[in-house]
Amino acid sequence: MWDFSTDPEFQKKLDWMAQFVREECEPLDRLFPGMGAPYDMENVKARAIARPLMEQVKRQGLWACHLGPELGGQGFGQVKLGLMNEILGRAQWAPTIFGTAAPDTGNAEILAMFGTEEQQRRYLQPLLDGEIVSCYSMTEPQGGADPGVFACRAERSGDGWVINGEKWFSSNARYAEFLIVMCVTDSDVPVYQGTSMFLVPKETPGINILRNSGVHGEVEDGAAHAYIRYENVRVPADALLGTEGQGFAVAQARLGGGRVHHAMRTVGQCQMALEMMCERAVSRHTKGSLLGEKQIVQAYLADSWIELQQFRLQVLHAAWLIDQGHDYKSNQLAIAGIKVAAAKVFHDIVQRAVQMHGSLGLSDEMPLGHMWIYAMMMGIMDGPTEVHKMTIAKNLLKKAVPAEGLFPSAHLIGRTEAARLKYAGRY
Ligand SMILES: Cc1cc2nc3c(=O)[nH]c(=O)nc-3n(C[C@H](O)[C@H](O)[C@H](O)COP(=O)(O)OP(=O)(O)OC[C@H]3O[C@@H](n4cnc5c(N)ncnc54)[C@H](O)[C@@H]3O)c2cc1C
Repeated sequence: MWDFSTDPEFQKKLDWMAQFVREECEPLDRLFPGMGAPYDMENVKARAIARPLMEQVKRQGLWACHLGPELGGQGFGQVKLGLMNEILGRAQWAPTIFGTAAPDTGNAEILAMFGTEEQQRRYLQPLLDGEIVSCYSMTEPQGGADPGVFACRAERSGDGWVINGEKWFSSNARYAEFLIVMCVTDSDVPVYQGTSMFLVPKETPGINILRNSGVHGEVEDGAAHAYIRYENVRVPADALLGTEGQGFAVAQARLGGGRVHHAMRTVGQCQMALEMMCERAVSRHTKGSLLGEKQIVQAYLADSWIELQQFRLQVLHAAWLIDQGHDYKSNQLAIAGIKVAAAKVFHDIVQRAVQMHGSLGLSDEMPLGHMWIYAMMMGIMDGPTEVHKMTIAKNLLKKAVPAEGLFPSAHLIGRTEAARLKYAGRY
């Protein structure tokens, strides 16, 4: 059965969220800008505003909704979470205010699944409560898209481990209470069996942040993507999350609905760009008419709406598949599809929005420049577009069968011959 409707009770929650994000969260982006700002627990002024807002969200029963009921969440399922993330995508601060900011969401899932009781006591509850933030440290300076080049190693030492190596773009490391670090533990086997995941408390000696990079357009002191050198970082045996060699299985555990949420937040951003385009179309006069009366501009609007609508339904369908019980592996095609589409659709819509705003669109007086960079980010972070396209193609080719003869099975001469044989004497 196909059903595109939203349960009216849940729609009320979405309506509350939409107003709350517009009125309470969007202004925070102006006062405390930058991707890292919502993670800075030492920004006393920002926290003083954020905390009561978080309380309001908790009172509405909308806090950390990505969690299953066993962790105090609502068990909403991915379609509902998708619809919520569409709204959260409108403000950088919104995921933090709703307790669903990455990478803390995925890191909490890892802790819940693989952490010891002591690690859970120390980190999980404060993380779920939004009192601390965490870091996911996997990408290395010599390559992120190919784990085969990872070189950061953990060696057994006494009854613990010693970590040495470098990590790159470890977001929010400077604010994190702990880091989840992927390390090579056996270089004699393929990388997918030779890496392990470790929980490293921030105070462990040897975590050296060489510098923090920002993405273009970010305020300098908000730069939060750390280049880290781990130098003889000693951790106890139970710092190993999961078993030795299970690093990628642990990494996959955190992917769950994360990509759906990212994609739906992108839908929210695209909607904002489209709203800006529509407003511009009915506001700006040139050559004797409104922009919205010019056919090329109408095409910009129509193409943007069509692409956004297709993308939105594609993401919700991927979410629905997860809700039907498809795990990450069996849902790989759908998930890779939305990851690729997010970057392309966002890019194309923002490009048109910039174009329609002319010089203003390019200036730092509009949010479009940052959205443009964000579209680029979508094509790189969490694995580049090319790699996800390869996943899509591999999935498609799994089912492909080679043609039996010299010509393709769709070759019309062969088809006609087969049809003649089938209906011989009857046509
Ligand atoms: C905003 C942001 C936040 C991030 N946060 C984190 C974080 O918290 N923790 C973390 O560990 N990492 C993080 N990353 C890193 C991210 O996961 C990597 O950037 C990503 O995996 C790509 O790795 P790379 O940048 O080293 O690019 P590379 O691996 O060098 O790839 C560069 C380009 O080469 C091309 N390419 C790569 N592989 C292939 C292929 N197989 N076929 C064809 N072309 C290919 C693509 O065009 C690709 O964009 C973040 C990145 C961004 C942008």
